[in-house]
Amino acid sequence: MSEFISKMYNIEVGDLLRSVNFEAYERPEGVIWPSEATADLGIVTVGSCRRSLYYRFTGVKPTNPLSLRVKYVCDSGKMYEQMFVDKYRKSGMLLETQCKIEFSPPSYPNIKISGKMDILIQDNGVKTGIEVKSISGFKADEIFGSNKSIPLPTPNNLMQAMMYKHQCMVKGNGIKDIYLLYINRNNGYFCYFKIDIDPEGYPIISVIGPEGELLQVIETAKYPTLRELSLTSEEKDPNSARISSLRINIDSIYQKFDEIFQARKAKTLPPKDYKLLYTIEDAKTLYHCGLMTARKFKMIQKGTKTDGDDACSMCQYQKKCLEDTGINLK
Ligand code: SF4
Repeated sequence: MSEFISKMYNIEVGDLLRSVNFEAYERPEGVIWPSEATADLGIVTVGSCRRSLYYRFTGVKPTNPLSLRVKYVCDSGKMYEQMFVDKYRKSGMLLETQCKIEFSPPSYPNIKISGKMDILIQDNGVKTGIEVKSISGFKADEIFGSNKSIPLPTPNNLMQAMMYKHQCMVKGNGIKDIYLLYINRNNGYFCYFKIDIDPEGYPIISVIGPEGELLQVIETAKYPTLRELSLTSEEKDPNSARISSLRINIDSIYQKFDEIFQARKAKTLPPKDYKLLYTIEDAKTLYHCGLMTARKFKMIQKGTKTDGDDACSMCQYQKKCLEDTGINLK
């Protein structure tokens, strides 16, 4: 009965396993994808966890493998990307898709950043790279903003775009601008963020509306760091914490890549970048810099709620990491 469904299921599971094996065994040493960027913001880490990357690069089998459901969400992202490829092709502006970007950061010749920018277009002689992201649910609400919050990209996507922009600046490959394009799977809304880097290496984010209108320019270096925010006790505007979480220096991204490279070479397990369970002190710091609501903080303080970083709850190596840390979660 319904053999074609089980056949399809097995094909999909096979694809999933092959992609895990490729990541573990076939990727050349020193090669890192821009989507794996990580940065330490003093109070929190944003992006990938160095420990989970270490497990992946040293061939540790995921103890909490991705489900087919998650694979389908990723696959649907490719569908939206194709939708915009078709639109840009029809407009006559499309130059290339999956445009290969490969480079070693000037101060770290041992590592190679290798990525594929989704769309390269040319308009009025200007070449522009576009990275397409599709999102839904509360993440989409955060990115698109509301009457209380401003639209902002996620740190992971921002770091990826920053590296593409930096490569264009350093190598002079003829690509002038880099944009992140988000599409909301819930309702079809879309918006663009143009990503630039200031002379000190911090991102400048231009928020662009769907008709191409410039809505806001955010020079992240002009905002306080998360540490500075955490030192004052007044109630924080959530927008300040969100912008401070994007105050990421390009060199600090490369430095983290090098740390992963060195850890892999020396076969030394890197520290955990995220927390499976917040202590009251962690919650207090997050609350003071505006990354945790007062309600959640009070519940953790009273012991009526436990919480930790989302990165850990979604991590493919959670069980392995717990074992290696000697933590036994009840
Ligand atoms: S469980 Fe958390 S700390 Fe451990 S490897 Fe995964 S993301 Fe990193």
